[in-house]
Amino acid sequence: MVFVTRAELADRLRRPLRRELADGCQDRVVAGGLERLLENLAGPFPEVRRLLEGYRELPLEERAKRLEAALALLGDSAPPARPAPAKPQPTPETVGLETPVETLPLGPGGKKKLAALGVRTVRDLLHYYPRRYEDRRALPGFRLLSDGEKVTVTGRVLRKELVRTPKKGMQLVQAVLEDRWGWKLTAVWFNQPWVMKQLKEGARIIATGRVQRRGRYTTLAVEYFEDEEGESLSTGRITPVYPSKEGVSQAFLRRSVWRALEALPQPPDPLPEAYRAPRDLVDLPYALRQVHFPDDEAALERALARLRFDEYLFLELRVMLQSGESALVGRVFEVREADLRAFRESLPFPLTGAQERAIREITADMASDRQMARLLQGDVGSGKTVVAAAALFVAARNGAQSALMAPTEILAKQHFQNLSRYLWPLGVRVELLVGAMSAAEKREVLRRVREGEVDVVVGTHALIQEDVEFKDLGLAVIDEEHRFGVLQRRALLKGRPDVLVMSATPIPRSLALTLYGDLEVSVLDEMPPGRKPVRTKLLPAKLRHQAYAFARQEVQKGHQVFVVTPTIEESEAMAELQAATRLADELRALLPDVRIEILHGRMSAAEKDAVMERFRRQEFDLLVSTTVIEVGVDIPNATLMVIENAERFGLAQLHQLRGRVGRGDREAYCILIAGDTSKRTMKRLKVIEESTDGFYIAEKDLELRGPGELRGTRQSGLPDLKLGDLTKDTELIEAARALAKEILERDPYLNAPEHAALKRELQLRAEAIGFREVI
Ligand code: ADP
Ligand code: MG
Repeated sequence: MVFVTRAELADRLRRPLRRELADGCQDRVVAGGLERLLENLAGPFPEVRRLLEGYRELPLEERAKRLEAALALLGDSAPPARPAPAKPQPTPETVGLETPVETLPLGPGGKKKLAALGVRTVRDLLHYYPRRYEDRRALPGFRLLSDGEKVTVTGRVLRKELVRTPKKGMQLVQAVLEDRWGWKLTAVWFNQPWVMKQLKEGARIIATGRVQRRGRYTTLAVEYFEDEEGESLSTGRITPVYPSKEGVSQAFLRRSVWRALEALPQPPDPLPEAYRAPRDLVDLPYALRQVHFPDDEAALERALARLRFDEYLFLELRVMLQSGESALVGRVFEVREADLRAFRESLPFPLTGAQERAIREITADMASDRQMARLLQGDVGSGKTVVAAAALFVAARNGAQSALMAPTEILAKQHFQNLSRYLWPLGVRVELLVGAMSAAEKREVLRRVREGEVDVVVGTHALIQEDVEFKDLGLAVIDEEHRFGVLQRRALLKGRPDVLVMSATPIPRSLALTLYGDLEVSVLDEMPPGRKPVRTKLLPAKLRHQAYAFARQEVQKGHQVFVVTPTIEESEAMAELQAATRLADELRALLPDVRIEILHGRMSAAEKDAVMERFRRQEFDLLVSTTVIEVGVDIPNATLMVIENAERFGLAQLHQLRGRVGRGDREAYCILIAGDTSKRTMKRLKVIEESTDGFYIAEKDLELRGPGELRGTRQSGLPDLKLGDLTKDTELIEAARALAKEILERDPYLNAPEHAALKRELQLRAEAIGFREVI
């Protein structure tokens, strides 16, 4: 979770408000309208929201006054000079992307129907993509129709008549149709006498319905028909089928889209030819026409490829602009092959191929003059620390200092021990700085850091809070970045060191690229050899006593056990405490000879650290915990992980929890207790039982749950992709990302004339997915 302070929020709000004011208060600075921005950001500032309520309805003068008042409330010191409010823009005469759909000839109720689908402008309509397609190109001749089949056919009307059935008094319209080969059938409409008027003898129609064959006599009960001389949007082509709602017919949607394409045949293409050509992307007008009414399969493919590319391109642009830190000049390190060799030789084991690759990628970044921003992602136990150590070593050999920041003291200590082990023999001076140290100890470390007597300092937030002054900070390594707030990160990075972020969360690469946007990613997708997989078993809740009988055996062998229980709701700290307490009490009754303690979310960081430290020293045997077990803490003596109500966890989370055991050389186990044994649940949990590959599991997780649930869609800025599929589009995402970077490097604010359409489209998309204030 990214942590945003009130001050940061105020800052984020001030910028668009100032711009709105400078723009003459026309409510066009913020995509989606100023009020929507406030809904999203102004939670902590109710006065501001109240001030700007109904903004769009206010006269311009009043808008300006309110904006100034709001800015004052947000602590804005120097509002810019305000130009005279301009007249509201006249409605455009010609149709543009933002023209409301009701200017198109849609027939009565058209606007309302489209509004029900969230379609308000011509742009919305053009980008209202079909859900699927039906191939209605080659229509069968009448002779080949079989009884009971549903078909679409075309034929010329030879004659027509209205008849009344003798018994039930139904009105039938009957028309004899002739196909191109001279075969005939009788088309029948039940109780639609008005069809008589629509049918013209000699005209060609296209009709869809069900076939009935009685000997040589063929009838078609018509469900839908249209004149082929008209637009014939529903037949004779690859026909689009749109996502829709009750009361909004496919024919209406096809017609509406067609009208939009007619009214705006050349929508501005956000991608200039120069960007499209090398990527073999078709132009936007073509892509939009073909995605709705494809000429053939190949054209459809090309259209989809272009539109999917756009989705990712705009997403990447947004992420990069949002993080606002693209391509800064950083430090140039000299990376010597001899140093890397010395590093490898000092290790007690050979590096894995993945580690070698990651080290190459990281050192290449360090050697370049761009500031490194790289995410090192690897499953628990994949050996990230060694990779970080290589980078720290290179920095030290260049005479630069490094900082490694961990989210908790216990993790900081663990890193300190490991890094000392790797780096001391190479002459690198490593120090620890944590809150628990005495004032005198801290003072001494700080002095040594300031005077350059320390090469690597490992710590917690203390690294920031204690106002550490580095002599020359060149590299910052951040473990488990999501635990840190944005501000904290910035504070550490103010000297613009190269940055390496380590994360054990096995986010699929495509998703990582999207979520982290500005970070390059190195992946450790290979485990060090000899690691035994954790043996995993799925149990229904009624057999959970078996899990605890097994736990007792493990404890009797002198091993330790984790028991994890989920909480119902993250916010319910009380409930969490109760759940953990109840479970611990139950287990104490069940296992009287086992020493049991609790760890839960209501404890302070120091209390948690203390419990983990005692567990590590084997002062008790079984730890009952809510999900707050410190990720990354090594308890080599723990051999069993029991997870209650496993169905309430995400697969990736279960895999991480399981990674807490099996860190020693003993056989390790994980038991998943399923509180709900529905098919769907068991299918999900079986993934964990059957695989120990974190990336595979994460992909599955994404597939089975959808990306939205991984981090909370809205906040993380995950897009609503209409065409893209995060689980499959890795290459496409990378290509889009590379282009986004190229564009922003050339034109960081998209002010160049050739990027005008791109910028506008970016703003419109931001509005469509509910994201505000992009540039
Ligand atoms: P992570 O931080 O990715 O969870 P660590 O860096 O803590 O993993 O490494 C886990 C364990 O594996 C450590 O004990 C480390 O010494 C060991 N290890 C790391 N790389 C290798 C390797 N290439 N071969 C054997 N053991 C390794
Ligand atoms: Mg680690």
